[in-house]
Amino acid sequence: MIDILIKGGIVLTMDDQGSAIPEGYVAVKGECIAALGTGDGKEIRARKIIDARGGLILPGLINGHTHAAMALFRGLADDLPLMEWLTRYIFPAEKKMDADFVHTGTLLACAEMILSGTTTFCDMYLFEDEVAQAADRAGMRCLVGEVLYDFPSPNYGPVEEGLKYTEELIRKWQGHSLVSVAVEPHSLYTCSPSLLAAADDLARRYRVPLILHVAETKAELDEVKGRYGKKPFEHLADLGILGPHVIADHCVHLDDSEIQRIVQYDVKPVHNPESNMKLASGAAPVFKLLKQGVTVGLGTDGCASNNNMDLFSEMDTAAKLGKVEASDPTVLDAFTVLRMATSMGARVLGLSHEVGALEAGKKADVIVVDTRKPHLTPMYNPYSHLVYAARGSDVSHVLINGRLVMEDRKLLSLDLEELLDKAHEKSRAVLSWTS
Ligand SMILES: [Zn+2]
Repeated sequence: MIDILIKGGIVLTMDDQGSAIPEGYVAVKGECIAALGTGDGKEIRARKIIDARGGLILPGLINGHTHAAMALFRGLADDLPLMEWLTRYIFPAEKKMDADFVHTGTLLACAEMILSGTTTFCDMYLFEDEVAQAADRAGMRCLVGEVLYDFPSPNYGPVEEGLKYTEELIRKWQGHSLVSVAVEPHSLYTCSPSLLAAADDLARRYRVPLILHVAETKAELDEVKGRYGKKPFEHLADLGILGPHVIADHCVHLDDSEIQRIVQYDVKPVHNPESNMKLASGAAPVFKLLKQGVTVGLGTDGCASNNNMDLFSEMDTAAKLGKVEASDPTVLDAFTVLRMATSMGARVLGLSHEVGALEAGKKADVIVVDTRKPHLTPMYNPYSHLVYAARGSDVSHVLINGRLVMEDRKLLSLDLEELLDKAHEKSRAVLSWTS
């Protein structure tokens, strides 16, 4: 007896062979995928059947970098220079916010992510224990970490406490079915070499990822060069920090020697094209990284610099910006970009043994995309449609860890109306903090 049978659609497994089943099914038992097959699975007895006729069945999407609670800052201030945006709006608001603010903001982000087919997200922010709790409540998979920097934090105070807070977070959530924890120093321009080294030491001791922003803007490059006389990855390599456990967000400004360091140490970059465009940071040389065999993930970054968490839109942008950057329409093809948001994304976060592809034994993080729509008909190539034509709102069903969290576009794990009211309430506080 199976718990949930999803049948009748085209199954895109996103496994290493890129195999697809033209008309197939996915059978789910408990938290895991029990079987995949051809046909309608008539012989299988299931407690619940999801009819995916005319749809695509694929692994849930993986948002490789975000600051989820910033959903409450969406549209607060746009079209400003980065420093003015940060110092006039974001920093004053972040100084005032508390655990409940982050919890509500994260729930809001989880609702948006589930409704657009994302099943896993990687977060960096303050009050991360609340982020983990909110994700667990929403039924979402996540990799979270408290942001660390040289100055005091509104959550933990001095930075030594931040390292302790992170260690407690790692111990608290160890073995949880949805939540994993990473060590997350913010960046090279906000963290001293000794903080970076201490953070990496903690990450290696617990065998968890080390996540930081690297080479996001030209200004950062100049600052790191001015302070240390080195390029960002050169600085990290000399500190002995680089390795396969390092997840580097953005990686926009890379020359060939920096790309070679990423290759040599098997660093995992996460590409955030919409945020990089909106803040005029530049275009990351993703095609060069991919050509060298680097594993690259895809992220939306926070909602204040995007301004949405829809990975379908992000995939479309990644493919197109990649072509502009390379002056070559053949790079970042649809299949490759979908891999960045699924199987490669899972490898980046160290979760590929559990998610990122539809395979028997893996966790059942599965989405159904309804293609019975004018903008998705006819369909010659499902990968092309997913990247260039589909929207997050075309996702009809979402399963995470075997649990149905959205059915026929209805969110099941959260009370959406109540959540929207609470988010409105929080926005009044934001306005009073920033006026
Ligand atoms: Zn970021």
